[in-house]
Amino acid sequence: MPDDRVDVAIVGGGPAGLALAHSLKMRKVVVRVVTPPATWHATYGVWRDDVEECELGAPLDTLARGVWSQVRVVGRREHRLRRRYLVFDNERLRRSLADGIDVIVDTASSAEHDLDGTTLRMASGGSLRAKLVVDATGNGVLLAHRAGLGRRSNGHGVARHGEGAQTAYGLVLGNSHHVEPDVFTLMDWRPAGGNAAAPATFFYGARFTDGSTLVEETSLYAQPPHNIEDLRKRLALRLGADFTDTARAVERVHIPMGRSLPARTTRVVGFGAAAGYVHPVTGYSVAGSLRAAPRVASAIDTALRRGEHGAGLSQTAWAAVWPEPLLRTRAWHEAGLAALMRLPSHVIGEFFDEFFSLRTELWAGYLRIDTPPEHVRAAMLGLFARADWSLRLRLASAPGGLLRALAAR
Ligand SMILES: Cc1cc2nc3c(=O)[nH]c(=O)nc-3n(C[C@H](O)[C@H](O)[C@H](O)COP(=O)(O)OP(=O)(O)OC[C@H]3O[C@@H](n4cnc5c(N)ncnc54)[C@H](O)[C@@H]3O)c2cc1C
Repeated sequence: MPDDRVDVAIVGGGPAGLALAHSLKMRKVVVRVVTPPATWHATYGVWRDDVEECELGAPLDTLARGVWSQVRVVGRREHRLRRRYLVFDNERLRRSLADGIDVIVDTASSAEHDLDGTTLRMASGGSLRAKLVVDATGNGVLLAHRAGLGRRSNGHGVARHGEGAQTAYGLVLGNSHHVEPDVFTLMDWRPAGGNAAAPATFFYGARFTDGSTLVEETSLYAQPPHNIEDLRKRLALRLGADFTDTARAVERVHIPMGRSLPARTTRVVGFGAAAGYVHPVTGYSVAGSLRAAPRVASAIDTALRRGEHGAGLSQTAWAAVWPEPLLRTRAWHEAGLAALMRLPSHVIGEFFDEFFSLRTELWAGYLRIDTPPEHVRAAMLGLFARADWSLRLRLASAPGGLLRALAAR
């Protein structure tokens, strides 16, 4: 006999798993999280207004490591965006979301389903019985296991690029003059050391209130991924020296991207990066997971109260994880990525000049995974309208790209 039983078992104690657990607990759903000891190492940056309404368990600014009122983007020209950017204090956010949540420190190895629910088997030999199991493992180990690695296209006819990654090489330094205080540099596309080597990569950097500075050389999604050692060399060119040996910490970023969405028919339901919440262009997922947690928790809570179970309960949860309109949003994002990837390196800065010259609600909407599809389309059309003829021609020739947006009603 299984040793324990809950409404929802969440596998994975990253930001997505804990956000969903927290929102379920707020709705009095009996939830348990299965995760190895979790330390969050990455830098989690978000646009502050994207997450100010989220269920975080504490006032947003008490969970921040830094908040900046200005964001700097440099393409061919410099933009000062008056939209606040926030980097979480990982430990404070983790503790706040995990407060009062039952956690089993273990690794889930498989899930066995019957008509009523699921038995989760752990590496330690233990088991947990749940009405619903959520895979928030980042890479979707249980989804792949159940679906026989059966990922498929999102069904919207958009050209796919295959699995690649966003990569970056970052250093945490002391107070560094390479970064302007009080301004978050999100992207500086000027070539490292004036050397316009292709493909283009960009500089990202900010100074924190504790006096530390994060500097990073980043590649957007690439297939194959941009080599991290090359990013290290480019960062050294930018800074005038390689500060790796004296840095307080080194951040090697590899964010897998370009996967199709999971099948969304499995009994185990995905959430967070495991469910494809990584934005196809930016590589971000944390704000997307925090914003989706209340929606998904409410749907699960309502379904449980209605007595849904087994496959029906899973289908209800999947429909909240990926509501139909947001699948169309995803298709537009992938069309945008297709267009961006066709651009030669020397034009990418110009592309972002036009993007960040759009009205704030247009570019801000494009950067969220839960923006209504018609708003994402409007942003793409807006960018097309602003671009000069040579950029338009390049964008329009992308397969499944902006021409589709123009042709669609
Ligand atoms: C250096 C770096 C910087 C980044 N910067 C940003 C940023 O600024 N903004 C942003 O939004 N995103 C950023 N990202 C991307 C972001 O980190 C991920 O998209 C995000 O962590 C995904 O959250 P998640 O909870 O879905 O999955 P994860 O964070 O991957 O968490 C998954 C959890 O599941 C656990 N797990 C795995 N397998 C099992 C198993 N079998 N049983 C039990 N537990 C299991 C893991 O131990 C882990 O704790 C960055 C990534 C990196 C690497």
